[in-house]
Amino acid sequence: MKLKDKALLKTASYVGGEWLDAGGKTFALNNPATGDKLADIADHGAATIRLAIDKAAAAQKEWAARTAKDRAMLMRGWFNLIMENQEDLAQIITAEMGKPLAEARGEVAYGASFIDWFAEEGRRISGDILQPHMTDKRLMVLKQPIGVVGAITPWNFPNAMITRKIAPAIAAGCAVVLKPAEQTPLSALALAELADRAGLPAGIVNIVNGMDAPAMGLELTTNPIVRKVTFTGSTEVGRILMKQSADTIKKVSLELGGNAPLIIFDDADIDVAVRETLASKFRNAGQTCVCANRIFVQDGIYDDFAAALTAKVSEMKVGNGADDGVVTGPLIDGQGLDKVERHVADALGKGAVATTGGSKHDLGLTFFTPTVLTGMTTDMQIFKEETFGPVAPLFRFKTEEEVVAMANDTIFGLAGYFFARDMARVWRVAEALEYGIVSVNTGIFSNEIGPFGGVKQSGIGREGSKYGIDDFLEMKYVCLGEI
Ligand code: ADP
Repeated sequence: MKLKDKALLKTASYVGGEWLDAGGKTFALNNPATGDKLADIADHGAATIRLAIDKAAAAQKEWAARTAKDRAMLMRGWFNLIMENQEDLAQIITAEMGKPLAEARGEVAYGASFIDWFAEEGRRISGDILQPHMTDKRLMVLKQPIGVVGAITPWNFPNAMITRKIAPAIAAGCAVVLKPAEQTPLSALALAELADRAGLPAGIVNIVNGMDAPAMGLELTTNPIVRKVTFTGSTEVGRILMKQSADTIKKVSLELGGNAPLIIFDDADIDVAVRETLASKFRNAGQTCVCANRIFVQDGIYDDFAAALTAKVSEMKVGNGADDGVVTGPLIDGQGLDKVERHVADALGKGAVATTGGSKHDLGLTFFTPTVLTGMTTDMQIFKEETFGPVAPLFRFKTEEEVVAMANDTIFGLAGYFFARDMARVWRVAEALEYGIVSVNTGIFSNEIGPFGGVKQSGIGREGSKYGIDDFLEMKYVCLGEI
């Protein structure tokens, strides 16, 4: 890692504006592309989470009492520092989780965009004055920050998933205690360092790293001071956190797993469909919860599409994301690799054919060769479960009705994609897909402006957009009498 500013590399946790080690207890962090050790990270647990919650509570009221403009100016300073350090932050992302540098740079800009956006949105939080039911009464609605927020984030967007939660929270006047994924502590701590330099008051943003995620999560979800829990990760863990949050009736936002369908109808522009399928499926080596997981191709164009996609996928350069020209980095860890291998073996065992790839890459470690599978059927594991790897499975379908039913045949409902040019079909299918996000004729839809979130077991709530701040606000009805 060649950082211009080595002070961005922190290993201690950031609590109440101070850097805390864990009494010498650490965990080792390795670069998945090389196996080399990057750092020893302070290994905190539930006690530090508790301390951070107390610090957040102590700081939050003063923060909430400031003007929205004051908060926005500080957030703007944080945004500027992130963009000034974009290259270093990208280097850190690539080193700790493997995505190619070009993608990491894009993630930093995407992550920063939430800070800029919500700094502005915070200034537009408005209450309401309602028509009274009696002449001597006045009825009002106030929007107030919910208070202390507990957040848990994943490793696949180690920067943007953090800013997407912290930015709306602090813009609304909340304080946050965040536990990043154990695979990507450095990106989180670099963001904390920049928040500190930007002058965000102590205790408003707290970042606590540790290996004992269940204990830390238990504290965040059961501590009565925490009023809201926001989580991005697997549906399995989301379920646990939602249950744990029940006793203290916390508000919860969950961004969970997906099983994204990507449908190519025979009236689609095939070149566009191939290009955008690559973008959706192979970004981050297939490790995003909105990556196409099941690709449905209409009968008449199936063979042409498969051939065109195979040609492109077989050219993809695999390697260390820090090296020039690499488009597919390693998978995050051995568990991630096992799942991809299991899904591919299951499909091949049930009659699928790998037209390119199909196995681990010669580079070893957790590298997997970008793969296209044809002859996919609905009894295969990939149909039900997110693969989270560089594997494009192609299912054949005949009619619109059939493919909409297959696409919706899942407990998940995060993102769905389709490619078509007939306008009536575009409307019909966009309305029929049971997904929180529908992406038509494009493989990339994420930005700070559109509301991101799922239906069914993919989650609760929306992040980003003008709606994303609502989750961090309470509504208070004030009734004035004797006017
Ligand atoms: P992924 O498959 O992306 O690793 P996880 O849901 O396992 O998804 O992890 C997402 C985040 O949830 C990480 O920060 C991880 O440490 C945390 N986590 C995992 N298990 C638990 C748990 N039982 N309670 C709270 N957080 C957890």
